[in-house]
Amino acid sequence: MSAMTEQSGGPTLPQRRRLVTDIPGPRSRELMARKRAAVADGVGTVMPVFAARAGGGVVEDVDGNSLIDFGSGIAVTGVGNSAEAVVRRASAQLARFTHTCAMVTPYESYVAVCEELARLTPGDHAKKSILLNSGAEAVENAVKIARYHTGRQAIVVFDHGYHGRTNLTMALTSKSMPYKHGFGPFAPEIYRMPMAYPYRWPTGPENCAEEAAAQVIDQIGKQVGAANTAAIVIEPVLGEGGFIVPARGFLPTLAAFAKENGIVLVADEIQSGFCRTGQWFACEDEGIVPDLITTAKGIAGGLPLAAVTGRTEIMDAAHVGGLGGTYGGNPVACEAALGAIETMRELDLPAKARRIEEIIKPRLLTMAEKHPVIGDVRGRGAMLALELVKPGTKDPDPAATATLAGACHRAGLIVLTTGTYGNVLRFLPPLVIGEDLLNEGLDILQDALSRL
Ligand SMILES: *Cc1c(COP(=O)(O)O)cnc(C)c1O
Repeated sequence: MSAMTEQSGGPTLPQRRRLVTDIPGPRSRELMARKRAAVADGVGTVMPVFAARAGGGVVEDVDGNSLIDFGSGIAVTGVGNSAEAVVRRASAQLARFTHTCAMVTPYESYVAVCEELARLTPGDHAKKSILLNSGAEAVENAVKIARYHTGRQAIVVFDHGYHGRTNLTMALTSKSMPYKHGFGPFAPEIYRMPMAYPYRWPTGPENCAEEAAAQVIDQIGKQVGAANTAAIVIEPVLGEGGFIVPARGFLPTLAAFAKENGIVLVADEIQSGFCRTGQWFACEDEGIVPDLITTAKGIAGGLPLAAVTGRTEIMDAAHVGGLGGTYGGNPVACEAALGAIETMRELDLPAKARRIEEIIKPRLLTMAEKHPVIGDVRGRGAMLALELVKPGTKDPDPAATATLAGACHRAGLIVLTTGTYGNVLRFLPPLVIGEDLLNEGLDILQDALSRL
């Protein structure tokens, strides 16, 4: 290995899978022991392997193993790890200044990111943004803004929805274990509605959109009152809930209902945004123009940054000083975002995500024909998943899912599980991954499936 690749990750890292120890190797096991002693147990570990470097489609661990990355650090490093433009811009900013606080003496990159967000997000209306540090913080701020603008309190969310781990966003999140269990009491005025989940809709996928939308509208009317509803907060493709793609027609019906009733439609695109589903934002697929959109994960190539972007008249509702935060829109993170967005444009990452779907989806469908443990294959672009069930039923099989993920991990493939029932294997490769690595990862999955 050359001195160059020895020192750096990013684009220079050799793009290949290589296992030189068991997974985890001895050095990772030592570090795991230190982690167990020093880090709170509540912080889980998907794979007990410590990262040393990463770039393109691989993560190299501290034992010298090179793993294929189908996780992107949970849909974050779409542009790759240590992407050239991200490193160049963020490093230059580190040397200029690291922080002044955007609320004290602002800087150009904050404004430039907000200008990009106005250009890139759906709709050609006047838009403004606020920058924050995490996805949960973005969702919290979207709720604050929607409440202030409407003068209403109720927030409508959905079964299987995930919006974060702070107190308000735990309340917005559907799944109890592990996200909410033992952490209550939760914020009030949150109302949960059915999700148009085609695979599990009782009367079949063909009725799903219409019936689910009718139920949502009926329940809002009965339980909440449209006139009391500040916002409908929804993921256009669900992340932690299991990569559920709402049945076609569901989102447009909700968008029309929100518009008729003066309800702020908030698209939580924190996982689905920034080219992941083959479009810049997933809600574009059905032509949805949300009033507010929350973004984070893919926005800045791994540096912590999040945003709320939306209609100027809504974004401007709150009084001066009502929104903000010490670190929100940190200048290094803003430069990283500008570098990430530049990379997305230059490499046409929406097209890359569509190409990834062309490679992965047919192979998953072929696997599903052979293996009745696969109940559903779904997702869009580079946000794809398998839902695993007990063969011949739709009963979730989280044990098989964990076994399959474990086998992939030991073979050097980073994959993540997800889903309300813990029975979904999700695929979120970096959008810059090479096609040979993609196919090799799928070979590993296929092999693990046949040995299940
Ligand atoms: C990850 C995620 C969040 C929370 O983002 P954090 O940065 O972890 O706070 C919110 N919404 C969705 C859809 C997410 O996937």
